Amino acid sequence: MTGRTFVQIPGPTNIPERVQRAMHRPMVDHRGQAFAGFTKALLPRVRQLFRSEQGTPLLFPSSGTGALESALVNLFSPGDKLLAYNIGQFSAGTVNMAQQLGLHVEEVVLPWGSAINPDALHAVLAADTGHSIAGVLTIHNETATGVTNDIAGIRQAMERAGHPALLMVDTVSGVGCIDFRFDAWGVDVAVTGSQKGLMLPPGLGVLCVGDRALRAAGQSRTHKSYFDWAPHLLLNRQGYFPYTPPTSLLYGLAESLDMLFEEGLEHVHARHARLAEGVRRAVKAWGLSLLAIQPERASNVVSTVKLPEGIDGAALLAHAETRLGLSLGAGLGPVAGKAFRIGHLGALNELEVLATLGGIEMALHHAGVKLSLGSGVRAAQEWFLSEA
Ligand code: PLP
Repeated sequence: MTGRTFVQIPGPTNIPERVQRAMHRPMVDHRGQAFAGFTKALLPRVRQLFRSEQGTPLLFPSSGTGALESALVNLFSPGDKLLAYNIGQFSAGTVNMAQQLGLHVEEVVLPWGSAINPDALHAVLAADTGHSIAGVLTIHNETATGVTNDIAGIRQAMERAGHPALLMVDTVSGVGCIDFRFDAWGVDVAVTGSQKGLMLPPGLGVLCVGDRALRAAGQSRTHKSYFDWAPHLLLNRQGYFPYTPPTSLLYGLAESLDMLFEEGLEHVHARHARLAEGVRRAVKAWGLSLLAIQPERASNVVSTVKLPEGIDGAALLAHAETRLGLSLGAGLGPVAGKAFRIGHLGALNELEVLATLGGIEMALHHAGVKLSLGSGVRAAQEWFLSEA
């Protein structure tokens, strides 16, 4: 197919040319002086991404899942009790991982499309008068359902309960796209990956770790080796890593952070909000609805769209890909084949969203969904014009 393809899945996202060029360079000596200087300048800027003054950044050559595992094995010990929310495929994955690591998880399973209710969380923690819960596992943006949680509200609920549990946040599809405030929200450890808001190829796990979490890490009795934070903390201070770091990705990260800070994080968030609203208006114009139950918790990163009864989601996506060169996210878990996901994150602008919406209309029409061609594109155009 000539022309560019549209990979509008909720990560990996489009890699800006600037970032590609920054990675396209000869290998460097990762134990040399130049690289040490580079790393020392990079790490404080990672902290800045998370909006933290004191947090300690950590970088792992892994996808987001590896970084999540590193947090669990460094913070907690076998048998520790965790309160965790399962609101979709990715939050469920972390619950499962914690269980496999021998942690005792008090799992709250909510219907797909739900957000975590801080008041309900408060009730659970207030009832834990003996403070047996060591950590609360939350997800900032559930990429499977297109729901964003109120992390500030969750921290406030923990404080109201006077509970000392650590707050761990999976913001793999949040930070770099939507507002995330490590310090202001009292997050203890935040985890992300390179392939979403950071506009990089997959393969880099990124964490921000607060002081309380660092102290807990010193006491964890969980066996670990590759993901042990201790040698990273030691060597990072000198600009090095305990093993060969993914140097190309790190050069890409420096560039993508430049891009995010040049645009300004507030503007990045506002852009995501504007584009997401255009998508939501298009979905409404098509007569379809989102999986997100509360409209105010609908994600500015990804929209999970329910398909009408009898429409085959897998066939819809296959047609979009092969006929139009448009990749969309599949419905996952209980909504596999019954919903699809539109990724509207990363390096993206209004015209790219309009093209995506135009392609989706064609694919929906082909799949037998009754809609008026152009209706979604028009609704988004009108929104973008009103915002101009
Ligand atoms: N958490 C969330 C919210 C995600 O969106 C993803 C991946 O999409 C993951 C965790 C897992 O990350 P990775 O696939 O990079 O291991």
